[in-house]
Amino acid sequence: MKSFRTDLHIHTVLSPCGDLEMSPARIVSLASKRGLDIIGITDHNTTKQCELVWKLGQRFGLTVIPGCEMTSREEVHCLGLFSDFDALREFQHFIDQHLAIIPNDPALFGYQVVVDADDNIIEMLDNYLGASLNVSIEEVEQKVHDLSGIFIPAHIDRPRNSLYSQLGFFPPELKVDALQISKLAKEMAVREKYKIDTEITLVQFSDAHYPDDLGKIFTLFEMEEPSFGELRKALLREDGRNVRIP
Ligand SMILES: [Zn+2]
Ligand SMILES: [Zn+2]
Repeated sequence: MKSFRTDLHIHTVLSPCGDLEMSPARIVSLASKRGLDIIGITDHNTTKQCELVWKLGQRFGLTVIPGCEMTSREEVHCLGLFSDFDALREFQHFIDQHLAIIPNDPALFGYQVVVDADDNIIEMLDNYLGASLNVSIEEVEQKVHDLSGIFIPAHIDRPRNSLYSQLGFFPPELKVDALQISKLAKEMAVREKYKIDTEITLVQFSDAHYPDDLGKIFTLFEMEEPSFGELRKALLREDGRNVRIP
């Protein structure tokens, strides 16, 4: 079994709040230089920059998992991660059907740009990506799992846009593969405060919006190889796989 430094919550320049320096090329180069083995790309309510990061990651031997940070109707942020681009495309279609239509105001919210491998802007998205989907967190979870994805509520200890801040409790019907704690949180303190069952795995990721944040926070995944199937097994702690917040 090997140990892989994994950060599955990273924003690119496409997120309105993502720094303009967070281009796909910069992200893979920094992630690799700073010792990450596996990264997940999770822009707010869009998946449109994932494929390029995945492609560029190959040059560095970096495993890139395509994904998204969704905002449910209750304004809970949650991560969806996918094993392949067919599933990702279908998930993008789901987002397109459900994202509230609010024009983006770049001066207020920031730019939402898709860039190419050389950091040239190739598209600007007009609809505000920080808006909510008109579906419940349970419906988002269901869609991710229908597509055989991994579903992880994001930064659960934060006072805004988290499972506990928005709902006040853990919905008993919700099937999570793990819960992500925010970057400065302590695992045991969060477990105690929210009375989280030890059967539920906690992970910690950077939620990086700026180059400086990349590589500082990660979770160690102990597994055979850096694949999607192994990630899931590690989160569920199956067959001797495990995850550990360092
Ligand atoms: Zn978030
Ligand atoms: Zn985020």
